[in-house]
Amino acid sequence: MKRYDIIVIGGGASGFAAAINAKRTDRNVSVLIAERLPKTGKKILATGNGRCNLSNSDLSPDRYHGSCKNLLSVTSAFNVTAFFESMGVMCEDDGYGRIYPRCRSAASALDALRLEAAKLGVEELCGLDVMNIERRRYSGRPLFAVSSTEETITAKKIILAGGGMSQPSLGSNGSILGICEKAGIDIVPPFPALVPLKTEPALVRPLKGQRTDANVMFCADGKVISSRRGEVQFTDGLISGICVFDISYLYEKHKHNAELKLDLLPDMSTRQVCELLKTVRNIRADMAADDYLSGIFTRPLGTYILKRALKSCPGTAGQISDIRLGTIADTIKGLTFPVTGTAGFERSQVTGGGIRTEETVGSFELRKMPGAYACGELLDIFGDCGGYNLDFAFSSGAVAGRNAALKAGI
Ligand SMILES: Cc1cc2nc3c(=O)[nH]c(=O)nc-3n(C[C@H](O)[C@H](O)[C@H](O)COP(=O)(O)OP(=O)(O)OC[C@H]3O[C@@H](n4cnc5c(N)ncnc54)[C@H](O)[C@@H]3O)c2cc1C
Repeated sequence: MKRYDIIVIGGGASGFAAAINAKRTDRNVSVLIAERLPKTGKKILATGNGRCNLSNSDLSPDRYHGSCKNLLSVTSAFNVTAFFESMGVMCEDDGYGRIYPRCRSAASALDALRLEAAKLGVEELCGLDVMNIERRRYSGRPLFAVSSTEETITAKKIILAGGGMSQPSLGSNGSILGICEKAGIDIVPPFPALVPLKTEPALVRPLKGQRTDANVMFCADGKVISSRRGEVQFTDGLISGICVFDISYLYEKHKHNAELKLDLLPDMSTRQVCELLKTVRNIRADMAADDYLSGIFTRPLGTYILKRALKSCPGTAGQISDIRLGTIADTIKGLTFPVTGTAGFERSQVTGGGIRTEETVGSFELRKMPGAYACGELLDIFGDCGGYNLDFAFSSGAVAGRNAALKAGI
């Protein structure tokens, strides 16, 4: 039976950082990455639309959610940009704080991780779908036995880097979370985050394919819980866009009476919108009502706003009374859609929930499984869009790898 000092379970972002930093900490420890897919790093290739937004210039804790936020005080000492530059990957800020490899290639980022791991002597075993982890005694020594249906390998320390449940075709299917749960580790039930939100299909059907700038407010019981500004996209029964992704996690807490309220002219007050509507009404007085708003919004969105605002549509723009202009202005400043669900794990970029912070110590070791470390999306923490999730995956993996290597001799 093969034996290692450290087995890293999961060949994704956190797993690679863990394996590389374990070896950088102590070249003499033997390290294996065990990956269930035929190849490592499949999700990394999909990040940032193939460009890999690996960090952010502003890593404020406000951009993270979940009980493990306290671990950011530990991971903040690890600089992910410097880590990539140490492997020969030049990185740059895109002007909005998002950090990418200069070549904007996720494949280059993954190559760098693979090359560095190979240079340091990290072994990879792909196609090993870990189903069971046990603490056993071999010749009197306690070791972890890590098993798939076909084989068992052993190690002094293990690093759990199996990710969450988002987009299982990219590898992480929640199986490691399941193993942790079986071992009595307390898990915040996983839920899809950074995900499109569902609404009543008939309500968004006329807007299918439309995109618009908006301030998007997530409301529960009529109160605004949080808001984000950005481009909103309408698809089949779904509302998406980065600004929607960033507040989508709120649905988990506010499933009843949740709605999205869109301010479609966020730089203007309601009074200013009324003035604008009056001006345009005068300019387009003789034109069909359908043409009234097509200079402010796309024609489908303009027509949609009129239909949502007015019970009956007037023949020409000039026939719209001042009172009805007020109703149109209110609709523009607060176009509402009930939230009926999320697009699920299949479409979510990250998983909320995971191993609770009380189960970990600052070294990322698990209290109930001494010698086992957990990192990345497996933990109850996720960040907004913009490089926050990869940054946490790499930095938490690196810290876990270092700590496991420091104790591998014990
Ligand atoms: C389409 C998409 C785009 C994204 N873009 C960005 C972005 O640009 N910037 C950003 O910051 N974040 C982005 N994210 C989020 C980010 O990719 C993840 O948060 C991050 O990859 C998590 O890393 P991880 O190592 O914890 O888990 P993962 O990357 O999911 O890696 C887990 C690995 O463990 C393996 N595994 C799971 N179970 C087992 C098992 N039982 N046995 C063996 N192996 C197992 C999996 O196959 C997988 O390879 C994106 C996510 C998606 C889905």
